[in-house]
Amino acid sequence: MPAPLETFTARLARTRDATRVAGLDALLITPSPDLRYLLGVAGASHERLTCLVLPADGDPVLVVPALERPGLDGTPVLALGLEIAEWTDEQDPYALVTAVLRRAGSPVTRAGVGDAMPAAHVLALRDAQPACEQKLASTVLAQLRMRKDSAEIAALTVAGEAIDRVHARMGKWLRIGRTEAQVAADVAAAIVEEGHTSAAFVIVGSGPNGASPHHDVSTRVLAPGDVVVVDIGGPTPDGYFSDCTRTYSLGEPADADAAAGYAVLQAAQDAAVAAVAPGVTAEQVDAAARMPITNAGFGERFIHRTGHGIGLDVHEQPYIVAGNDLVLEPGMAFSIEPGIYFRGHWGARIEDIVVVTDSGVTRLNHRPRDLAILPV
Ligand code: ZN
Ligand code: ZN
Ligand code: ZN
Repeated sequence: MPAPLETFTARLARTRDATRVAGLDALLITPSPDLRYLLGVAGASHERLTCLVLPADGDPVLVVPALERPGLDGTPVLALGLEIAEWTDEQDPYALVTAVLRRAGSPVTRAGVGDAMPAAHVLALRDAQPACEQKLASTVLAQLRMRKDSAEIAALTVAGEAIDRVHARMGKWLRIGRTEAQVAADVAAAIVEEGHTSAAFVIVGSGPNGASPHHDVSTRVLAPGDVVVVDIGGPTPDGYFSDCTRTYSLGEPADADAAAGYAVLQAAQDAAVAAVAPGVTAEQVDAAARMPITNAGFGERFIHRTGHGIGLDVHEQPYIVAGNDLVLEPGMAFSIEPGIYFRGHWGARIEDIVVVTDSGVTRLNHRPRDLAILPV
């Protein structure tokens, strides 16, 4: 369901205020989830510059290649009454951005450029405005984007339900004799069937491959006793991502210590989710996940942070990691995904998306979290 226009009007106004408070004169946002957050269109980034110019004092202007102007018909951009500045291939779009900024009045000495802006545009903007210091736009936008409104939470809930339905079907595809890649192809198709626009990632890490947290897929053939990490997700039509990991076993796990190790991991994931509440810091949640694992002697096996924010990006702020003293607030959404990894043997991870509520926490993924022993 597309967001109502008022959503974007309010976001643009809040962003302008926050830009001023951050001591920046403007934000420059190229096609990205940031742009989708602000205007309801993601656009496509390439060598031709599309850029939302957001002066701290003044009205926003969208700079677009003339040939892409028709593509804006029917988007919120027109309904918002945003000024559109077109440029043709014979013109210099960076000079146009400079002209738009000058028109807003006071000189632009510090601008925030979108974190995902291609370097080619960043450097060309720098050449066009040599006196302008460039900062990251996330200094302004991350603060806004990590506090989700109820429509965004609803969108993440829909995404969570969709990916849960894919995990519910996993037993059909995870069979002895099939390769990880064959399984992943079925999973990717199901991710789309169950309501995503694409399968952004499908990790099927079987046996020793499960010990590599960002393993993709391989031609390894599934064998009896394999422990298999399946980490999958993608964007829904609203642009909000799912991301959920479950760990399966093809029959009883071949590694004698897998069941006990997994039990520790499951306790850690539960402890971390239980620790989430408004007023708690991100690093306290990370510590809550780490403690049971460390106490069991597996501290060195948990080789990544506990989680990441999620929304229009699959990985965004807040990061649930040691050193992040950010205080959690209602509306923040992030993963809780501790893992333990035994190089050359097996690995396991459990991942749910959670949302901070007024009084605590809600999980958006609901599939059972035990080691799922599939019949062989
Ligand atoms: Zn990851
Ligand atoms: Zn994740
Ligand atoms: Zn994941």
